[in-house]
Parts: sequence; C-alpha cells; structure tokens
Amino acid sequence: MIQNISPEVFDNHFPDHEMTSPSPYDTVFAYDGRTILVRKAEDGTLAFPGAGEVIARGHAAAELIYLFSIDEKHFFLFTSFDKGSMPLELEGYTYEKNSVLRAAAPRDLRFAAVTGYHLYVWYRDNRYCGRCGHEVSYSRTERALVCPQCGNTIYPRLNPAVIVGVTRGDSILMTRYAGREYKGHALVAGFCEIGEALEETVAREVLEEVGLHVHNIRYYKSQPWGFEQDLLAGFYCEADPDEEIMLDKMELAKARFVPREEIGDEDADLSLTAEMIMRFRDGLE
Ligand SMILES: [Zn+2]
Repeated sequence: MIQNISPEVFDNHFPDHEMTSPSPYDTVFAYDGRTILVRKAEDGTLAFPGAGEVIARGHAAAELIYLFSIDEKHFFLFTSFDKGSMPLELEGYTYEKNSVLRAAAPRDLRFAAVTGYHLYVWYRDNRYCGRCGHEVSYSRTERALVCPQCGNTIYPRLNPAVIVGVTRGDSILMTRYAGREYKGHALVAGFCEIGEALEETVAREVLEEVGLHVHNIRYYKSQPWGFEQDLLAGFYCEADPDEEIMLDKMELAKARFVPREEIGDEDADLSLTAEMIMRFRDGLE
C-alpha cells in the first residue's frame, strides 16, 4: 500500500526551529488545484524541485513550509495559496494531474507527494478562522493554525471513510464508479457520517450503494489516502443470501459479484482496495 515505504521511515513530528528552514537539496512540493509541479524523466519517473532552485528563482525561504521527513530527506510545501501569490513556475517543470503520482517511482516520493497534497489542501482552505473570520497564523509549537484574534486552533483534518469487501461464497462484490476520473475496479466505499461507528458506515454504505444487507462485519487494515484527505478503514463482510443487487446509479456505474478465478492482477502496491481484492482472490479471506 502507498504508506508502506519500509525500510525508510516517515516522520511527521512537528520540527524544532532549525528544520523549518530549507537546505538547497530539500524537496519542494508545489501544487495548483489538483495538479503538482513535476519533471518527468524519459522512463516515466518523476522528480520534484529542490529548495535551492525555488530560492534561486527569487522566492523567500519563508514561502516554504516544512512538511515532514522520510529518513534524512526533508520535504517542504510552496505556499502558493497565500493572498495574491501565483503558482510556482520553474523551467523544466510542469504541473501534472495528481493521478501521475499513482505510477510514480520511487515509492517514498510518491507517498510524500500524496501526503503533502493532503496538507496543501488543509493549509489552502484554512487561511481564515471559521469562528471569527480573522486571518490565521502558523503555530510555532505544533502542526496547527491559530487565530490571533480569538485563539481558535485548527488542526489538520482527516476524513474517515470505509472500503468494504462484500463477499458471497467464493465471490466478492466489485464496482465501478460513475462519473469519476478513476476507471479501475473498486469496492463499495463511503464516508463516515457524524454520529456513526465505522461498522455502521459499512452496513449503511452497502445498503445505499447496492441494496444489500450484510453481516459478519470485520476490520482488516487502514490506509492514509492524501488524494482525498481520507483515512480509509478496510472491512470485509458477507452479504445476506438471496438478495438482489439494487444499484445506486448516482454513485456506481456497475456492481457484480466476481468469482475468485475471474479476478485479474490489481496494483496492490498502491491501494488498500487492490490489496483487499487480491487477498480475497488468493483465498486468504
Ligand atoms: Zn478567530
């Protein structure tokens, strides 16, 4: 899965002050909407600008916010969301859709860029206090935004969501989303509503999307998914016998129970969804 970068270690503890100023070879992520500034090599691998290149272009080091580290590599965010500033432009780099990150090697950079996007969206969308409307400041002691007017503290937001492997005998329910860029196989999935436990989200989403009641709901694994600012929790469950699929056509283009032997290879290297499909195919669930 995307977060598995072992033996390298992701470190997102809030830094001491020295680490908050970039060195020339530290990596900078610059996003513009759902795109990221990259340089594509001939072999398809992606490279990102170094802080030295950005500063040489006339930007101040203060425009770069420390994000996190992976081993000795430090990552910074270009703050293009501040009032009046333009997206970063650098020769040799272009803005590409975030989906290029799905295939980008090496793994540690892919995970870093997707996680950086999660923080970019949070910084960009929280420039003003939701309580009093004043412009917020960066906390110097923790990963938070603080309102100097009323003291409101805003922490990065995660959206909990579930991925559900609904099984019936030797088949698993595979879906395709309606009206989304991603065209691969999916499982039933949805966001946790306020007041709900995750297991209740599972039962509700399956009923809403495909009209089936389920039992034996059990937790499998979780995954951070910065593409959508999610924390995904994977569950397996069993469909009650003899119920017909009733598709929610707003959400899904297709849904059917696929027998193990018909399931092809999925890229389990990236997503929890694919890992769960492969695990079922291989008889481990
Ligand atoms: Zn405020």
